[in-house]
Amino acid sequence: MPRLVMKFGGTSVADLDRIRNVARHVKREVDAGYDVAVVVSAMAGVTNQLVAWCRDAAPLHDAREYDAVVATGEQVTAGLLALVLQGIGINARSWQGWQLPIHTDNAHASARIAEVNGAELIKRFDELKQVAVIAGFQGIHADTGRITTLGRGGSDTSAVAIAAAIGAERCDIYTDVDGVYTTDPRVVPKAHRLDKIAFEEMLELASLGAKVMQVRSVELGMLHNVRIFVRSSFVKPEDIDPRQTPPGTLICDESEIMEQQTVTGIAFSKDEAQISIRRVQDKPGVAAAIFGPLADANINVDMIVQNVSADGATTDLTFTVPSADYERARVTIEKAKSAIGYELIDGSTNLAKVSVIGIGMRSHAGVAASAFKALAEQRINILAITTSEIKFSVLINAPQTDQAVRTLHTLYGLDQA
Ligand code: ADP
Ligand code: ASP
Ligand code: MG
Repeated sequence: MPRLVMKFGGTSVADLDRIRNVARHVKREVDAGYDVAVVVSAMAGVTNQLVAWCRDAAPLHDAREYDAVVATGEQVTAGLLALVLQGIGINARSWQGWQLPIHTDNAHASARIAEVNGAELIKRFDELKQVAVIAGFQGIHADTGRITTLGRGGSDTSAVAIAAAIGAERCDIYTDVDGVYTTDPRVVPKAHRLDKIAFEEMLELASLGAKVMQVRSVELGMLHNVRIFVRSSFVKPEDIDPRQTPPGTLICDESEIMEQQTVTGIAFSKDEAQISIRRVQDKPGVAAAIFGPLADANINVDMIVQNVSADGATTDLTFTVPSADYERARVTIEKAKSAIGYELIDGSTNLAKVSVIGIGMRSHAGVAASAFKALAEQRINILAITTSEIKFSVLINAPQTDQAVRTLHTLYGLDQA
């Protein structure tokens, strides 16, 4: 029998009524002849509450205990869905990450999946016709035997990893929107749904701020060529016509996409901060003296801009970090002042990065240039720019984010007719 993974996010399992709705979706696929593995998130808001409690209990908490706490959200949903499925006559069993097991590395709070025991699931499909309801977001580190979690949004990654492990025909990601849009439809109502998007573009969209899929889930999908279909859980199962493809977005190989637009989508992240180091010595080894300590402190540096030295002796260097890391980054640079050799540092939080993504940019020149002009006309100041093969990003003041996204969305012809 063909196998299917169905993943339901937090809003899709927010209460028992929604869980009942999910159960009917699962039944629909079982009745259609699939062996089904379901992956569930915690009920909406639960993970946020658990994270807040950890922070409250100990601001610099032990990541192993953080994982012990935040993994519980998914445990509840998995058990409840299994109960509801049993209630409508479906043979179902819940699985925690440690039970299956889903092995991960030891990077608590952002662990990577190493291996999923797909054989156990397949055996139960074959021998018991049993639906597996798996708690997303969690796994176990084999050597220590401790529960791990995969980072926020990690249930997407659980789902894709399980799909790869059982050779699923598809991995359906059910969420509160009916697909991947040209940009966040909550910010730009004129955004339109994409029928298909290439893995590489989805990877950029996700890593540049679109939270509809966790970045690692897209990486895994690309690596194992899992067909990922993003769709809405709010559609009533009874209203779905099995002979028609439902609304949604297929994340697939580039070669499957016939009509390639120059720009596919726009992503943004509002929590960016900038640090400028003024009059740094312009000599070999300085960049290492700055970025080495930041890397050691686990601070993710994103954009880096270094001016050409005017006097041949000193220069200015600017970089961005997530605003949550701003204070730590400043302290790290101040501590390394004598090793780096600079005059002063300044910086600001409350910045945003807006990114334009499209495989078509590989073969079209001038895509970024037109954006700079359009933003200037809106009096939006660009603080830094980065470009790569299929995307470019601009750093701006956060309060202008929505205006910038809408301007670029219109500029590249992405507005819905
Ligand atoms: P789930 O709880 O199901 O995992 P998420 O909240 O993680 O759902 O992701 C879905 C949300 O992602 C949507 O509600 C939407 O606001 C947001 N989003 C951001 N960018 C996009 C985009 N380009 N297309 C669709 N949704 C997007
Ligand atoms: N519940 C976890 C989170 O909110 C994982 C997920 O929903 O994907 O981050
Ligand atoms: Mg999510």
